[in-house]
Amino acid sequence: MVPFRPLAEIDAAGDAAPAARLSMPPAELLARRLERLGVHRLPGVRGVTANHNRTVMVSYGRTRIIRIHAGYAQAPDRVLEAIIRFLMPRVSREERAEAEREFLAFPVFDHVPERARRVSEHPQPGDVALLHRLEEMHRRLNQEYFGGQLAPIQFRLSGRMRSRLGEITVDKKTGRPTEIALSRRHLRAHGWTEVEHTVLHEMVHQWQAETGQEVDHGAAFRRKAKAVGIVPSAVRDLGRARKVG
Ligand SMILES: [Zn+2]
Repeated sequence: MVPFRPLAEIDAAGDAAPAARLSMPPAELLARRLERLGVHRLPGVRGVTANHNRTVMVSYGRTRIIRIHAGYAQAPDRVLEAIIRFLMPRVSREERAEAEREFLAFPVFDHVPERARRVSEHPQPGDVALLHRLEEMHRRLNQEYFGGQLAPIQFRLSGRMRSRLGEITVDKKTGRPTEIALSRRHLRAHGWTEVEHTVLHEMVHQWQAETGQEVDHGAAFRRKAKAVGIVPSAVRDLGRARKVG
């Protein structure tokens, strides 16, 4: 919970610079913004917590702590003002309903995508070189097997992927692939030939997504996989069966 500061301190502090706001955790940014928009009109209000709950956008109870979806940290002032109006005691039912419509119309999930919710992993020494090498590999394989038609893509190294070697993320709204994640274990244990095999597998998925097909291991995947010379399945034998993803 991020507590609200007393009224007197708020005016003295001024607004945080935009750059500072970018690096603030959502709850803190919400606290600072709500303070300036008059949250103190709520009697006894203490502070705010940010959640990523899919169903509860705003709640406020006996604890006098506002629980609010983290995506609202990026909402325009009028949306946050609507939230304050909604929570005010003794407003008319119509006013409250109107305020609720206003803040529910703000697309919170656009501002807290699935990716951002995962706690990010610490980069490790050598990551920059590894990622550079993977991007180079992607460029080369793109020319060699896809006529250069695939878009450049970001790579990510994951220390959490255990059973999977690689994984592609596709933006649900646009259908565009956004990144290829590779297991750090895979990179350590299996060598670059196998890694290239995995990258090609993910690139076949990238090709599926970018040509408007389903991303799966169906007939189109198997055909393309054979054409680029990789195992046409989701599972590969590297000592023991491993999912490619
Ligand atoms: Zn796959």
